[in-house]
Amino acid sequence: MDRRALKIPFTRENTPDWHCPRCKKGLLRFVEGQFHAEERKDSKDAHNHEAWDPDWIEYVYSGLLRCTNESCSECVANSGTGGVGIDFEIGDDGEPEQTWGDYFRPKYFEPPLYLIDLPNGCPKSVSEPLSESFRLFFSSPPAASNNVRIALEALLTELGVKRFNTKNGKRIFLNLHSRISLLPEKYSELADLLLAIKWLGNAGSHADSPVTIDDVMDAYELIDHVLQELYTQKAKKAKALAKLINKKKGPKGDV
Ligand SMILES: [Zn+2]
Repeated sequence: MDRRALKIPFTRENTPDWHCPRCKKGLLRFVEGQFHAEERKDSKDAHNHEAWDPDWIEYVYSGLLRCTNESCSECVANSGTGGVGIDFEIGDDGEPEQTWGDYFRPKYFEPPLYLIDLPNGCPKSVSEPLSESFRLFFSSPPAASNNVRIALEALLTELGVKRFNTKNGKRIFLNLHSRISLLPEKYSELADLLLAIKWLGNAGSHADSPVTIDDVMDAYELIDHVLQELYTQKAKKAKALAKLINKKKGPKGDV
């Protein structure tokens, strides 16, 4: 995950290397003539204010992106906000010069960008809330974080962890922390990672510690590792090999 490309604002001269959500190989670039930015009404009206400075400017923008991989050419709709900030350019005399430049922050991509790779074997109950999280990532990190938590609950269910205890015929639902502690022994090495994801999500439930874009990216990196461990062919092969060696209590020999 290229954190810088996802985090910093971009300029018209420099589009970040967002990866195509369809082929995952090409990069997305704005289609010529399909990027439109306009200054908002209140921002325009504020120009008359005596203390006005260019960094008061607020834009909205929309644009159409296309994948650079010619055999794919997927199109992605994108919109967001923008402003004007101080830039430095090297002047004719070779000295840095202060200038004002437009910058933009993406809020929505449709279809959403894939911020981590979801392995083919990953169950839908886990991949769907993660895709929803990717859709919300730029516009609302706390909502994106909530969907990571939903994915985490679904993952525990997929790994055979019960959701509730039954007492006097009533269901008592277990909280996420208790469920992680009930992970079957064979997944014990994943428990620390899952617990860390849970703590990152918890930050959002307290008003004094809002979930940041960095927290969500941390959670993605952790869950990415967990999914790779569980659902890629490479991980499955390694596990099958370990099982075979353990069964023979020695090298597998020629099979
Ligand atoms: Zn593509």
